[in-house]
Amino acid sequence: QAKRAGKNGIEFFAPNLDVAAHSQMHIEVRLRRALQENLMHLHYQPQVDVQTGELLGFEALLRWTDAHLGTVPPGRFIPVAEETGLIVPLGRWVLNEACRQVAEWGLTVPVAVNVSALEVAREDFVETVTGTLARHGLSGGNLKLELTERLAVRDLHRAARHLSQLRALGIQLSLDDFGTGQSSVSTLLQLPMDELKLDRSLIMGVADSPADQRVVGALLGLARGLNLNVIVEGVETEEQYRVLRDMNCGAVQGYLTGRPGPPDVWAERIRPHQKPGLR
Ligand code: C2E
Ligand code: MG
Ligand code: MG
Ligand code: MG
Repeated sequence: QAKRAGKNGIEFFAPNLDVAAHSQMHIEVRLRRALQENLMHLHYQPQVDVQTGELLGFEALLRWTDAHLGTVPPGRFIPVAEETGLIVPLGRWVLNEACRQVAEWGLTVPVAVNVSALEVAREDFVETVTGTLARHGLSGGNLKLELTERLAVRDLHRAARHLSQLRALGIQLSLDDFGTGQSSVSTLLQLPMDELKLDRSLIMGVADSPADQRVVGALLGLARGLNLNVIVEGVETEEQYRVLRDMNCGAVQGYLTGRPGPPDVWAERIRPHQKPGLR
């Protein structure tokens, strides 16, 4: 560390930065291996109609428990995967596994898969998605793609073109984390979309704070004006649920209506939404 001291003897490199870089590299090595050895899993979280309580679909969420690192949350390893390009094979794995599961379930409601902007902008993205659907005998209506905006403008045009092509096949497009720095109104102007997912941070106070209710109400109005569906993320309490239902918000996803879980735990819940032969 001392060797890195600057001209005036001030250390510019805090030791914990080195630790961060090191663990980042460690995550990359372990992640690459986990992918090769098929050690990743998907959990599924229900998306629910706020008026009827009916199941509208599931979001697929990556889960990874590593022998050395323990359980690593996606918030930790997805950024590493994006920086290293591992997101491309990882994204393909997620898409394939989610589609395989939907086909096995005979699910009549769609599965939502998170995709990185980096994946969407790739030349082979449309082919990857259509090829995966075909492999499992699925159609566009079985799939929803959730996006956050982390794209250079240059790539945005290509992403928009790819998304339009997929949307024409009946695949729904959802703008994730709306209301955070990651997803903005300007994205809406540039990308084709069917749905907004309001970030959890926006609705945390909605049960208690009239000001928060007004913000959410205004965003629901925005969505309505743009003809977009809304899913509110991170609904944890009955009070939040009631307030959102009374505001006519459409759909919710959160611990209250179901925590993300492995496929088995949804056996009962999916029964009314399976193709007849598979019930
Ligand atoms: P996201 O797409 O916004 O997913 C929702 C996150 O909120 C998930 O965190 C979910 O477990 C969590 N959540 C759901 N309901 C509640 C609630 O009521 N309370 C609280 N506190 N949290 C709730 P998770 O699984 O840790 O994923 C974090 C992020 O990692 C995701 O945010 C998504 O951006 C990314 N991610 C996860 N899986 C994938 C993937 O397969 N591909 C890509 N590219 N990104 C993924
Ligand atoms: Mg998502
Ligand atoms: Mg989100
Ligand atoms: Mg997200």
